[in-house]
Amino acid sequence: MAAVPRTGALRPRVTRHWPAAVRPERIDLYRVVLPLARPLASARGVEAERRSILVRVADSAGLAGWGECPALTRPTYTGEWHRGAWQVLTEELAPDALADRPSPVRGHPMATGALATARLDLDLRGAGRSLAAAIDARRTTVDTTAVLGLASSIDQVVDRVAALVGAGQRSVKLKIERGWDLEPLRAVRSTWPDLGLAADANGSYTLDDLNRLRALADVGLLYLEQPLPPDDLLGHARLAGRIAVPVALDESATSPGAVAAALALGPIGAVNIKPARLGGVDPSVEVHDLVVAAGVAAFVGGMLELGIGRAAALAVAALPGCTLPTDLGPSDRYVADDVTAPFVLGPGAVLSVPDGPGIGVDPRPDRLAEITVDHVVLTRS
Ligand code: MG
Repeated sequence: MAAVPRTGALRPRVTRHWPAAVRPERIDLYRVVLPLARPLASARGVEAERRSILVRVADSAGLAGWGECPALTRPTYTGEWHRGAWQVLTEELAPDALADRPSPVRGHPMATGALATARLDLDLRGAGRSLAAAIDARRTTVDTTAVLGLASSIDQVVDRVAALVGAGQRSVKLKIERGWDLEPLRAVRSTWPDLGLAADANGSYTLDDLNRLRALADVGLLYLEQPLPPDDLLGHARLAGRIAVPVALDESATSPGAVAAALALGPIGAVNIKPARLGGVDPSVEVHDLVVAAGVAAFVGGMLELGIGRAAALAVAALPGCTLPTDLGPSDRYVADDVTAPFVLGPGAVLSVPDGPGIGVDPRPDRLAEITVDHVVLTRS
C-alpha cells in the first residue's frame, strides 16, 4: 500500500488570512451564455453552448477580484450544474461572504471555488502578487494536450488529429466509450507512432470490461482516464493493478480526502487536478502535494472555462508536480470570442502562465455586457 501523507499537512493554505485580509463590500454575479466553437461530446452527453457564472468581489476601496464557476448546463459531469450553482451563489455563498461568516454549504465546489478564487484574486491584486507566485508555481509555460470529443467516424478523428499535429500539437486525448475505443485509438497511433496519446472514458466502463481495457495497453497510452464510475475508488485501484496502462482519476478526484484514499488503495497512475471541481486553488494545491508525495503524476484538466477560470487553472498547471500536459487549450478551441483577451498557443502548443497580479486577466467590459443574461449585485448591509 502506498504511503500517503495526511491531507492538509503539507503546506499552509494560500487563503489562510481570510477573512481578515479581504473584507468584501460588494459581490457582482454574472450569468453568461455564449456558443461553444464546437460542441463537445463525451460518454456523458453533449455540451453545445457555454453557460458560466463570473464572480466579482470588490473591497471598500473598489479593488476587485474575479472567479468563474464553470458548472455545466446539466448535472451530467458531476452533480453540480449551472442553475443550481447560480442559486447557491446568490442565496447562500455570497450573502455568507458579505456577512463575514463561514458558509455552512456542503458540496457545490465549483460555486464555492469561484467565490474563493475571486477573494484570493482580490487579495493578491492588493499585494501586487501573481497567483502562480503565491502557490510557488514557477514554470512560465505549460505543455498542452488537445481533447477530442466522441466522433462519428475514424476518418473524422484522423482528420482532426492531422490538423492539430500540423498546427504543432504534440499530444492529444480522445474521449472513448464502449464501442468507440480501440479502433480510433489504433488509427491515431498507427498514423502518429510518437504522438502523446491518452484516452478519457468519463466513467463509462465496468470491471466486466477488463479484457477490453487490457487491450488498450497495446496502443501505447500515456494514461487511461476515469474508466469506471466516479464513486468506484476500489474498482479503480483493482483495475490499476491489472492493466498495463496507467489509470488516471478525474471525476473520482473530488477532494483531497478522496484522492488520499484512492492513492492508499492501489497503484493509481495519475490524477487530473481540476481546480473548479475541487473547489478552487487551495484544495487543488493540496491534491497536487498529496500526489507528488505519493510519487504519482498529475495534470490539470479543464471544465470548458472561459478566460477567467482558465487563468486560475493555468497557475495550478504550472505547479512542479503537473508533469503531464494540461487539457487546458487556447480560447478559440472553445469559444469564438472569449470574455477576456484570448489565450493563444505558443510554438510547441504551449500556453503561457499569466504573471500579472492575481489571476492576471480581466473580463473585457464590452464582451461581458454582450454575453450577460443575469446580473445580481449584493452589498454588505
Ligand atoms: Mg476527464
